[in-house]
Amino acid sequence: MGHLGRRIQVLRERLLFTDEPDTAILQGIFALLFMLDLTLRTAGGTPVDAGSWPAAGLGLVLAACVAALVVPWHRLPAWAVGVLPVLDLAALGMSRMSNDVGGAGILAVVPALWLGRQFGLRGAGVAVLGAAVLVAVPNIVYQGVSGVAASRALLIAVVAGWAALVIAYALEKLRASRDAAEAALATLEAERRFSDAILDTVDVGLVLLAADGTYRGINRRHEDFMRLAFPDGHLGRAGQTGEVYDANGTALLGREQMPTYRASQGEEYDDVRMWVGGDPLTRRALSVSARRVASPHGEFAGAALAYTDVTDFMRLLRVKDEFVASVSHELRTPLTSIVGYVNILLEREDLPPDVVAQLEVVARNTDRLNRLVADLLHTAKSAAGPMHVVRAPTDLAAVVRDSVEAAGPAAARAGVSVQVAVPETLTVMVDQQRMAQVVDNLVSNAVKYSLPGGLVQVSLGLDVDRVELCVIDSGIGISSADRDRLFNQFFRSRQAEERSIQGVGLGLSITKSIVESHGGRIEVESELGQGSVFRVRLPR
Ligand code: ADP
Repeated sequence: MGHLGRRIQVLRERLLFTDEPDTAILQGIFALLFMLDLTLRTAGGTPVDAGSWPAAGLGLVLAACVAALVVPWHRLPAWAVGVLPVLDLAALGMSRMSNDVGGAGILAVVPALWLGRQFGLRGAGVAVLGAAVLVAVPNIVYQGVSGVAASRALLIAVVAGWAALVIAYALEKLRASRDAAEAALATLEAERRFSDAILDTVDVGLVLLAADGTYRGINRRHEDFMRLAFPDGHLGRAGQTGEVYDANGTALLGREQMPTYRASQGEEYDDVRMWVGGDPLTRRALSVSARRVASPHGEFAGAALAYTDVTDFMRLLRVKDEFVASVSHELRTPLTSIVGYVNILLEREDLPPDVVAQLEVVARNTDRLNRLVADLLHTAKSAAGPMHVVRAPTDLAAVVRDSVEAAGPAAARAGVSVQVAVPETLTVMVDQQRMAQVVDNLVSNAVKYSLPGGLVQVSLGLDVDRVELCVIDSGIGISSADRDRLFNQFFRSRQAEERSIQGVGLGLSITKSIVESHGGRIEVESELGQGSVFRVRLPR
């Protein structure tokens, strides 16, 4: 806005919108209009004599001007300044006491507006009364009672009063709505302080992004994380890179991997893990979640991000994985030697049958221990990174036949019969050992979770471009709530625990990771008490 524009706005506000209109300006305006009237009347051929009523009126107006300038109105009671417009009305009354019946009666509107403007409805009342008593009545007295004089006098009082009323009413409305707006603003401000206090109290770092990716706000907790992540300062835009590392804490994140950048592109996610800070002693692990914020029209309006400190959890996880890995590794060597010696012993012909039977129990249990250790190692390794598979042309049909055969003794003990339907050969590029593990797990589960007299059906087939392995049992089944957690590490159903069926809950999680690292999928259909169907599909 230009200089002049600003001046006009200030003037407009001083005249109209402030509660205290500018006394000097209002009095000045009236005085100018009053003098203009006198000047034009004199020019029109009716000189104003020094001793006349109009001249006295002029004197009164000028006196009011001086008073407007010199009296310290702000120190007097609020009503005191109302004397000036009343004096103006009196001066107007005087100026109309002349033979030319001059003195523009319309000028009464100026002090009336002033009164209504500054004193509301009460001011409007004073304006009507003043216009009647000080302008209309002296007029009639001076001119003599006549229709014309009465009409003019009446109209002056009515118009002045009306103007004062209108402005008083309009201002009252304006003030009421302004008060309402101020109250709403105060409520908003109080709400804002409350939510700021909440945001600063929670132990979660919070970031609000605007639609263009600029930071709209962060809470105090997040300031700590920002200091670690951006030791050189942050420019307040999503996607700035800094001392921010991936979940392993090794690779720096690029702009497009930064959680804020992804959120600013409208992405939503949960539990994205990362490390902030370059110093291994003070760095923190964070788990980040992001949600879009939509405008009332559903457009992308920004995003909210929450950062939870998971350092202790991540350190514990690492300790657990290292522990599991090293323990399983340490267990392997003695186990291998036990298996070796038991096998050597079992090859001897001179052992009494009861010793052979006992050694076979030892062999079976060492086998189980061996598998368990292998599973644990596998789990520890899979936490460290993606699984390594070595693909080679493999006859899956033979793999399935071997697995079923190996499950034979256990099935016989459990009174479960196993049927197998596989083609002669089915060669696929897979990791043979790992696929054997998959079939072993599924078949041994099907046997384990069957009831005596149950039936397990294993089939292998070729769909158009996929290999499908299907293991069906008529066993205890799985509830729908458990079905989602079946493939989680260490998950065991209540039914499995209640029936004391042996297991640790690792087989299916390993099976799933093997299948997925071959680009395949595993699915389960089951009802409690109705048996289960496990289906593995692999690309050819
Ligand atoms: P484990 O058999 O060692 O407990 P798994 O990971 O192989 O571990 O299986 C996890 C859980 O899934 C089992 O504890 C069991 O509750 C359930 N489950 C797996 N296979 C079957 C099945 N064929 N029938 C019923 N429940 C099953």
